[in-house]
Amino acid sequence: MSGAEAARTTPSIGTTKQEPGAGGQDGRVRLERFIRPTALGIDPYNAAHHDYAWRRRDLARLMSNESPIPPSPHIIQAAAEALADSNLYPNSGEDLRARLAAFAGVPFDSIVLGNGSTEVIDVIARIFLDEGDEAIIPIPTYAFFETQTRSQGAIPVLVELGPDFELDVGAIARAITKRTKLVFLCSPNNPTGNAWTSAQLREVLALGVPVVVDQAYLECGDSESFAPLVGEHEHLVVTRTLSKAFGLAGLRVGYAVASPRLADTIARLRIPFSVSLVALRAGMAALEDLDDLERRRRYIISERRRVQRALEADPLVRPHPSEGNFILFDVRGLGIPAEEVVDRLQADGMLLRAMKAHRLKGAFVRLTIGTAEQNDRFLAAFARLRESVAGGPAPA
Ligand code: PMP
Repeated sequence: MSGAEAARTTPSIGTTKQEPGAGGQDGRVRLERFIRPTALGIDPYNAAHHDYAWRRRDLARLMSNESPIPPSPHIIQAAAEALADSNLYPNSGEDLRARLAAFAGVPFDSIVLGNGSTEVIDVIARIFLDEGDEAIIPIPTYAFFETQTRSQGAIPVLVELGPDFELDVGAIARAITKRTKLVFLCSPNNPTGNAWTSAQLREVLALGVPVVVDQAYLECGDSESFAPLVGEHEHLVVTRTLSKAFGLAGLRVGYAVASPRLADTIARLRIPFSVSLVALRAGMAALEDLDDLERRRRYIISERRRVQRALEADPLVRPHPSEGNFILFDVRGLGIPAEEVVDRLQADGMLLRAMKAHRLKGAFVRLTIGTAEQNDRFLAAFARLRESVAGGPAPA
């Protein structure tokens, strides 16, 4: 490199004289001049509730759709053995990709790993969305689709689900313009809990725009896997994770399922080594023990049914049927805002979430299915709250 080239490429912040407007009166560099306007205006996905829950370990975590069941001894042993090799960089996770491919029923080169499905969704937004492009997002849904769309300088086109949160394919079709680059779907949908069918997905795919379907909660219930459809549709990508039914949210292992061509593009844009050695080995151990996954799934389903029935018995609340590890319920009948319901339950020892961030209108609270003991505690606390605002217990 010549001296002149070196001068041009060496950052000069604070050392050389800037053009007019670059520095303030005090000689400081005005970063606003350099940072992309989109990045300056960014309103990130808000993870404050996690920090709060970690500070308040005394409160039951019924707010972020984690599994209440810790990893099995088999997984803990695999992770501990990997820790002993932590002086080494991880491999690219070929063995885990092969396991996930068999599990999802797709070829090996259809799988791309990520640091949680969060990384994969971010890469997908970066692949398809440029400044001024549009992404269609049926709402209410997971807030990350909207934040990552905005972080690209793209425009989220929000299309409401129907009155019972059903997917309105006609509304999606009407929202498509020349700038539409992506449709975000979530099945089972967070926070509403319902899932889409492959017939509905095929209708959306027929619109001819790339579609990402977030299936983070697939293994929590009985909804349809869309992974096999990637063989027929090059413009479909499905994202999945070990964070929910597998119970490994803290390890951060997610993956994309896509046609080999799209999978290759995702793999090129992701950050190398983003899945740690510990996470890779623990993920392998989890996939070696699918009986454990099945036990976890059955547990979630039976506890969800139990809590659902208890809530259904109360005419003042309306729980929505769910295929996820959570239940959304309408608390309008209580006559107090959802935030107050959440605050009162917190005073009674548990964290739940009111659903504003998901663009849900009205008064809704989302409960994550916890341990049987936590679910009992929730039902008892909710009965107390109900009595204090409605002046009596729910009819037996
Ligand atoms: N998708 C949905 C719909 C979610 O609700 C969440 C987390 N709550 C994620 C993805 C993030 O999952 P991961 O841990 O795989 O990054």
